[in-house]
Amino acid sequence: MGIKILSAGLLGLEAERIEVEACFGGGDMGVFTIVGLPDKSVSEARERVRSAINSIGFRFPRRKVVVNLAPADFKKYGSAYDLPVAVSILSNIYKFREEVESSLFVGELALNGDLRAINGILSIVSFAKNIGIKNVFLPSQNSLEARLIDGINIFPIKNLKGLIDFLLGKKKINQEQGSINILVEKNNVFDFSHIRGQAQTKRALEIAVSGSHNVLMFGPPGSGKTILAKSVISIMPDFVLEEVLEVTKIYSISGKLEKNGIICSRPFRAPHHTASAPAIIGGGTWPRPGEISLAHRGVLFLDELPEFSRGILENLRQPLEDGVINISRTAGNISFPAKFMLLAAMNPCPCGYFGDKEKECICSSGQLNNYRKKISGPIKDRIDIHIKVPRLNFEELINKKEEENSEEIGRRVLLSRELQLERFRPYNIFNNSEMNSELVKKFCYLDKNCLSFLKKAIKKLDLSARAYFKILKVSRTIADLRQDEKISIDDIAEALFYHSGV
Ligand SMILES: [Zn+2]
Repeated sequence: MGIKILSAGLLGLEAERIEVEACFGGGDMGVFTIVGLPDKSVSEARERVRSAINSIGFRFPRRKVVVNLAPADFKKYGSAYDLPVAVSILSNIYKFREEVESSLFVGELALNGDLRAINGILSIVSFAKNIGIKNVFLPSQNSLEARLIDGINIFPIKNLKGLIDFLLGKKKINQEQGSINILVEKNNVFDFSHIRGQAQTKRALEIAVSGSHNVLMFGPPGSGKTILAKSVISIMPDFVLEEVLEVTKIYSISGKLEKNGIICSRPFRAPHHTASAPAIIGGGTWPRPGEISLAHRGVLFLDELPEFSRGILENLRQPLEDGVINISRTAGNISFPAKFMLLAAMNPCPCGYFGDKEKECICSSGQLNNYRKKISGPIKDRIDIHIKVPRLNFEELINKKEEENSEEIGRRVLLSRELQLERFRPYNIFNNSEMNSELVKKFCYLDKNCLSFLKKAIKKLDLSARAYFKILKVSRTIADLRQDEKISIDDIAEALFYHSGV
């Protein structure tokens, strides 16, 4: 009987303990079975493991080999079990160093015994740390990412031969130490100072980022909605370490990490409206995070919002409310974080020129109604700020006035966020947009004049109770940007303007 080799499997964003154990039996020479609910790719592991062991100069046992992956009820997928399976088999034949029992092994094997990178390393290594494992043996291509977790000995493996020689005490492996030394980057590729004019839209976006309000921009083609959306990242506060780790985990599981292995600035995701529901929401046979999770802690930009399918828009309801997405599967539910700022954009009508000063709209009123109806309901309820983005006129285009840059705007955003953090400390929320009606009543106090002003407006515009709360939340953010605890009539008037954008 060999020894139990520890490995880990992924469930959503977290890793779970998997034990790999091999035993040999008599008869049935050459039969190699893996048990423990393996799916197709785990079964393929048999071929890779057999070939890898043979090609590094060891002989795959000429007996019946059974490998058990436990627990049996955990649905295993992917190729990360190749390495622990190979180590487990060889531990039946050779005497390995003692450390093998207190270490964790993950990695895919190529037929020649080389190791291949796997997804989800950050989740796996942080799991190892949580359960008190000191040594993790993993593919060398994954080592940079693994080093984000401190207090762990990382053993980067290039080839199975190198690992087995080490376990036999014949050779050394240059072990690496985890250390948290991340350079958080400001994503300033798109800066507000590069955008001419559009003062009103920039102001609305500043308010939106301050209070984490979702935004819908209306404007004709060519008004610059996309570039405005891309610039929003540049006025968001810098990433903090916990956010870096959390977002990097999501990209790691999706197999979307770039070479340096770390996501160190806020993500901006802009899926096309033709993308599939699993690509946007998440899912698939091996559940992967979708665009809404890849946008976690950053911006999800949905251009041409009415073109997205009704089903996808419906599915955005839960993440917009809770900041997570639950994906149900036969094996149980999996959830991924999806706390993003929604920036949506649409043309004012199907042809794009409704309300344009220069070009005439050719849409019928029926077309216009249908177009706008598509965004009613769940999505519209969760958007606090509506803003018209006009095309620039000639004077604005040739204006050489210097525009305020993102750093200056970002400074104001940060100050207002600090106010909110302090305010909501006992309530486990961070931003004004997250206030429930109780908190709105508590923190959006209006004096007599303000109250009568808002009441008149509500009556005149025939607004709902939901609208009333939204307007108060946005007013709160506008007052916070002035660093004022007291909401003024001007704040309310501006919030009303963003409400009646449609
Ligand atoms: Zn039109």
